[in-house]
Amino acid sequence: MAWCETCAKFQEDDKIGRDGKCPVCGTPIVKPLKTPWHFKLLIVATVIYLLYRFVQLIMWLSHHL
Ligand SMILES: [Zn+2]
Repeated sequence: MAWCETCAKFQEDDKIGRDGKCPVCGTPIVKPLKTPWHFKLLIVATVIYLLYRFVQLIMWLSHHL
């Protein structure tokens, strides 16, 4: 999917020509920005932290039940 600002809507990738223009209005299509690496790093760090807290919870439960 790619965003066309002129049409103000998404256009399917397979409808966009090799020149990267909107099939409706001919405006050069703006491809969605790639996810920044530090954003991915933040997600990975968050997942690791949540797993760590989850393990802590399991350990706590195993000692208190
Ligand atoms: Zn368009």
